[in-house]
Amino acid sequence: MALIRLSIISCLGFFMINNYNAVQAWSKEGHVMTCQIAQELLSPDAAHAVQMLLPDYVKGNLSALCVWPDQIRHWYRYRWTSPLHFIDTPDDACSFDYTRDCHDSNGMVDMCVAGAIKNFTSQLSHYQHGTSDRRYNMTEALLFVSHFMGDIHQPMHVGFTTDEGGNTIDLRWFRHKSNLHHVWDREIILTAASELYDKDMESLQKAIQANFTHGLWSDDVNSWKDCDDISNCVNKYAKESIALACKWGYEGVEAGETLSDDYFDSRMPIVMKRIAQGGVRLSMILNRVFGSSSSLEDALVPT
Ligand SMILES: [Zn+2]
Repeated sequence: MALIRLSIISCLGFFMINNYNAVQAWSKEGHVMTCQIAQELLSPDAAHAVQMLLPDYVKGNLSALCVWPDQIRHWYRYRWTSPLHFIDTPDDACSFDYTRDCHDSNGMVDMCVAGAIKNFTSQLSHYQHGTSDRRYNMTEALLFVSHFMGDIHQPMHVGFTTDEGGNTIDLRWFRHKSNLHHVWDREIILTAASELYDKDMESLQKAIQANFTHGLWSDDVNSWKDCDDISNCVNKYAKESIALACKWGYEGVEAGETLSDDYFDSRMPIVMKRIAQGGVRLSMILNRVFGSSSSLEDALVPT
């Protein structure tokens, strides 16, 4: 067992060093901010559990491995996880129905980002009863939950089936080629950082955090965390995303056109809010599953 653990750790480490750019979803920056926001909101119990589950080389920094599920999704061993990053909904339905939509392209149920969050949250809820033998499944579960809570909040990750969440809608973002999915994954974030925060992602993240600690969204944060059953909660997050994808993502966009200032100005606040919600809600889940035994009745899933 020790050998297996070691090899998993060294795989993680090796991959971090060599494949840092192979990202195709809510960008590295989006995931890093989501996880950093969450980590700063962890209770002492949850912070300790996270520290215990992370490999030593990240020195307790969850965000360093939040992109890991994107990096390994094409590896043979993890190829099964590829459909877990998104949800394809019927074109123009602008709605999410778990039974109808949460499956992979072969119809396997629960194989979507909402199902994945349920599954890995359920696994984590056993952490406190587990033995050290379970530790490395728990590490992966932590990384998957942390990553997928980011993905489910990216509106275009709950998009239409035919255009693959905007991936096949080629267009220009200001002067360079892009596609609608990538605009929401990364372009808006990078443009915000470079235009408004001197290319400093940390300043951008601090601005997002200021909005919910004492700014625009401070009255809403408690309601973001409302969650008494993980199934209802992931359904809510997915419904929010497809509604935003319809209203702000797809709305008025034609393939081949150039998106620039107008689109950026109106969509940037939505992207920032989704990053904030993803982070706040991830901390809520981790605080609940890793909470002290007195709050077990508060748990999200049956143990
Ligand atoms: Zn992803």
